[in-house]
Amino acid sequence: MAGEQQTSANGYVVETEDLWRIYKMGSIEVPALRGVNLRIPAGRFVALKGRSGSGKTTLLNCIGGLDQPTRGVVRVFGRDLSKLNERQLTQWRRERVGFVFQSFGLLPTLSAYENVELMLRIAGVHGRERHERTLYCLRLVGLEKWMDHRPYELSGGQQQRVAIARALANNPQLILADEPTGELDSVTAREILSLFRRIVEEEHVTLLMSSHDPLVDEYVDQILQLRDGQIVEE
Ligand code: ADP
Ligand code: MG
Repeated sequence: MAGEQQTSANGYVVETEDLWRIYKMGSIEVPALRGVNLRIPAGRFVALKGRSGSGKTTLLNCIGGLDQPTRGVVRVFGRDLSKLNERQLTQWRRERVGFVFQSFGLLPTLSAYENVELMLRIAGVHGRERHERTLYCLRLVGLEKWMDHRPYELSGGQQQRVAIARALANNPQLILADEPTGELDSVTAREILSLFRRIVEEEHVTLLMSSHDPLVDEYVDQILQLRDGQIVEE
């Protein structure tokens, strides 16, 4: 796939222009996003805040190419996502974006190691390189001692660390995390937020995280506040 630029010409990793997403349910239209304009520079840790139903998940899904906007533009690394076909989009996601979800999303029958390694298998990374990268990611999140354990043998915080290691496996430059601390107690949530902070510094990724937890304010560089599908303050 052509184009390996890390950001657009003007230095933003994520840009949206007048982004709308209207869900249609029969004759009823639900406008989840109503003209969102945002710009996120490289290397930032950004919180997307807003109460339940404000459009956070919808916005993250549009930025990650998991959902198509009804109107407007999403550019990630300078690339207009609407210009990619399904196959290109899948490849783009795999190579450039890491996803972290509230409920971890680990495969229950695989060990921590295998959950991380699977991403590299799918990407076609082989042998020693795959092994080294898997170990590197597990070490980064402090889980090398737990790598043979399956998800049910791990705490919620540990499971989320596995999910973060998995998101990092393919060395993406953008991580999208949807309420990653939503199911964790506040002590564990702080550990995950510190880990994110460190990953942004050390791995030079840009991290966009949705949350409605006031705790996140101390850890991020920037807060975007969503209300009823619109950004109301930065
Ligand atoms: P948040 O993540 O901030 O809770 P969402 O993006 O999930 O917000 O939802 C924004 C709005 O869009 C809400 O009103 C929600 O009910 C609606 N919505 C989300 N997903 C769908 C869907 N698949 N079909 C219809 N409406 C949806
Ligand atoms: Mg949500």
